[in-house]
Formats: sequence, structure tokens, C-alpha cells
Amino acid sequence: MMHSTGTATVRPFKSTPYWWEDCAFAPLPVMPLAARCDVAIVGGGYAGLSAAIELARAGLNVQLFDRQPIGQAASSRNGGMASGSIRPSRKQLIHRFGEARANAILMEGKAARDDLQTFLDEEKVECDFFLSGLFDGAINDRECEELSRYAELLQRFLGIEAFSVSRAEVPRYIGTDFYAGGFVRMDIGGLHPAKLLDGILRIARASGATIHENTAVLATSADVGGVRVATSRGEVFAKKVLVCTDAYTDGFDPWLRRRIVPVRSRIVATEPLGDGVMDRLMPKRMMYGDTRQLSYYYRPSPDGSRILFGGRDGTTEGDPLSPTTHLRSELGRIFPDLQNVALSHSWFGQVAMHRDMIPRLFTAGDTVYATGFCGSGVVWARWLGKKAALKLIGRTDDAGSAFDFDRAPKAVPFYRGRPWFIPAVYSLYEWRDKRAIRLGKQSDRRP
Ligand SMILES: Cc1cc2nc3c(=O)[nH]c(=O)nc-3n(C[C@H](O)[C@H](O)[C@H](O)COP(=O)(O)OP(=O)(O)OC[C@H]3O[C@@H](n4cnc5c(N)ncnc54)[C@H](O)[C@@H]3O)c2cc1C
Repeated sequence: MMHSTGTATVRPFKSTPYWWEDCAFAPLPVMPLAARCDVAIVGGGYAGLSAAIELARAGLNVQLFDRQPIGQAASSRNGGMASGSIRPSRKQLIHRFGEARANAILMEGKAARDDLQTFLDEEKVECDFFLSGLFDGAINDRECEELSRYAELLQRFLGIEAFSVSRAEVPRYIGTDFYAGGFVRMDIGGLHPAKLLDGILRIARASGATIHENTAVLATSADVGGVRVATSRGEVFAKKVLVCTDAYTDGFDPWLRRRIVPVRSRIVATEPLGDGVMDRLMPKRMMYGDTRQLSYYYRPSPDGSRILFGGRDGTTEGDPLSPTTHLRSELGRIFPDLQNVALSHSWFGQVAMHRDMIPRLFTAGDTVYATGFCGSGVVWARWLGKKAALKLIGRTDDAGSAFDFDRAPKAVPFYRGRPWFIPAVYSLYEWRDKRAIRLGKQSDRRP
């Protein structure tokens, strides 16, 4: 189907997420604003809506505000890989937080992944969840050794089924000779992200939370006993505020904005490839990633008919064609048969990076923040939204969270919300990836 972008260019693919083909968000009924509430939540993605469920079920009066229609931001645009990854290594975590906290952070990943599955089962959320396992490809021998050590750590320390994969074994998991080896972990699965959001939204509404979409929070200010929340539809008073705006944080909170850098992530979807092709390229229908700095991630669609291939986009404005072309060529590099494959969709969304590079829960005055998921929020945003709510309720039976820090991530120097440095960082990472692949190829030629 031809798609007009509104510019002179006519593209042979849609620029809306593939997920929206079978999951549309109907407009919500417009509800009157209540002048007072217990908690005002800003942001209606996985984090904000999950918090709303806990708070409303605890009997609190909750109003959630989203400046867009629900279902427009990262929570319905992502790759649906339920990874709960942590970017820093265990060594880096120990260096920064000490061994006990580092271990608690890693253990919580396991708890959060398990909790997602329990939630889906108990609340009967149909979102095509499948515990597929994840294959991570190494681009050179050095990365292979690192992955092998990581597999051992997951196995020994967390009891997760994980093992390294030699170059000769790679075709069992993926039809490519691009990788020098890799590793597999079986605790990660895939799901349909928009259906997950739709399920969480349904439960939040049924729990009694009031959802105000198309209602921007413009500013908050401390007042006696709570916070005045100025919205595009009027002012409300809330005893507490919970901010879950992640990469879509706008000028309403300039303090947070200086700490969170929105980075575009893009996914392209191929046209259906046919069973034979999928059997050859993704014989185990897993989730896939690799060790490159530009973080490529890919997977089969839930019906197994096509490949969704994602990576960093590198642009900050407009919707240029170059990131799509780049992703298609990277897809063709891993799977040479797909060099000229037709794409049905190419879309982008924003992920929230910050200087700490781990998801965070923190408090400033009467405001609690659950945000900064560093491109890994399918597990973390739901989990930390829930944890933030339990903190607000003051639930003493909850063990709390190792991600609950008493301070926010540090502000990014010379940054106020326009990420001017992204193209330069992207070019640096691209150069490093090319170098790492070149080094890998050179070591292949050694006698
Ligand atoms: C292309 C892409 C691929 C990804 N792939 C994966 C993946 O495979 N696995 C994974 O774990 N994670 C992935 N992620 C990351 C994941 O989607 C996010 O971490 C997660 O959805 C964040 O959820 P959230 O609730 O914090 O924020 P969001 O879902 O982004 O919601 C934030 C909301 O805040 C609202 N908002 C902002 N400012 C205001 C305001 N002033 N007033 C009212 N509302 C406001 C916005 O409108 C928005 O709806 C990906 C992200 C993208 C973009």
C-alpha cells in the first residue's frame, strides 16, 4: 500500500506502528475534572496506568492526565521484547552502588519479569505473550567471551537458564553467518505492546481511576498539604503527584527535562516472508539482539509471518527516509536474502536516556517519579509504576525496590530539552561498531 507522508515523497510503507493494525485505541469518554484528588498521575503509558491500578484498588481517588490520546507514545510503539534489561554490567553496578545493591538490582529484574507474567495470567490480558527466549549475537570473539561470562553469571547467580552459543551452533538459533557466536537466555519473551497497553488501560479504568486523555499538565506548584496541578482543562489540587512521562517529558517539568534525554528508536516491519523463509532465518522464533553499541533488536511478528527490526534512529527532527534505509540495509547485512525486502511499516518513538542508565524511582517534595527506562520499559515501566504506587500508599508489606533512589539522575550539562548532541553520539557509536566488526573480521583471518 502506498502511503503519503504529507511531503512530496511517497513511501511504500506506513509510518504508523505495525501494532496499530490490530489494536486501535478508541477515544475515551471525556470526564469532568475533580477539583481535588488523592493522587494526580502525569503520563498514561505502562508506568502511569499501572500505578493508577494499584492506587485506585487501594481506595484512593486518582486522576491520570495524558496530553495525547492514550496509546500514542512509547508504550504502543515499542518492540514488545519483555527483557527487563539493565544496561550497566554487574561490575559497573558494584562499582557505583556496592555489591549488595548491585545484586538486588539484578535480582529485581527476575522478580519484575515474573510479576509481568503473573499479571498477564491473573488479569487475563491477551497480548500474544510468548516466552520465546532471547538470542544475543556477538560481533567479534572478544564479545563472545564476554557473553559467555554473562551467561555463566545469569545461570550461577540468578538461576536463569542461559548458555553460550559457538559460531558453529549459531544456525540453530538464527540463519546468519554475521555473528561470531552469542548467547541464549530463556527468561525473556515477546508480546504485542499495544495490546498490553490496552489491557492495562482497561484494568485501570475498571479499578476506578479517572483517565483524562488530551489533557496536558502545564505546571505543578507546592501548596499547603499537597500540589496545585495546572492542566490544559483547568486546575486541580492533589495530595501527591506521580510523574511517569519518560522520554515524552515536556516543558511542564523543566527540572526533570534537564535529566532525561529523548532518543529516537525506530522499527521497520517487512512484508510477510513466507513460512519457509521464517523457518530458515528464525528457526526458534526467538527475540534477537546483538552487542553493537547502536543496539539493534529484532523479532518475528506474533503471527510469525514477518520480521520487525529495530535500532537507534539518529535523527532528532522531521521524519527523514535515511534511518529507514539504514535499518533495511542492517537487516540485509544480517540476512543477505532480505537485502531488497519490501517494508510494510517504518515508525519511530522515543526512549528515555539519562546519566545513570538504569530505570529509576525517586522523590522530590510531594512528587514521586517513576521514569527513565533507557529503552527497556516493557518490564520496568509497569513494575516501577506499580512500585511507585505502593510507595505512595505506604504499603509496609511491600519489599520496596532497589531502583528506589533518594536522588534524581544528574542533569545533563548544556542540555535543556533539545538533544543537539545526538547526531554526534550516533556517529561515534556507528564508528565504534564498524571498528569492532572490522577487528572481528581480522581475527577471523588469523591462522
Ligand atoms: C521504537 C521503540 C522500541 C522499544 N522497544 C522496547 C522493547 O522491545 N522492550 C522494552 O522493554 N522497551 C522498549 N522500548 C521502551 C518502552 O517502550 C518504554 O520504556 C516504555 O513504554 C515507557 O513507558 P512509560 O509509561 O514510562 O512512558 P510512555 O509510554 O512513553 O508514556 C509517557 C506519556 O507521558 C505523556 N506526557 C508527557 N508529558 C505530559 C504532560 N505534560 N502532561 C500529560 N501527559 C504528558 C505522554 O503523552 C505519554 O503518553 C521501546 C521504545 C521505543 C520508542
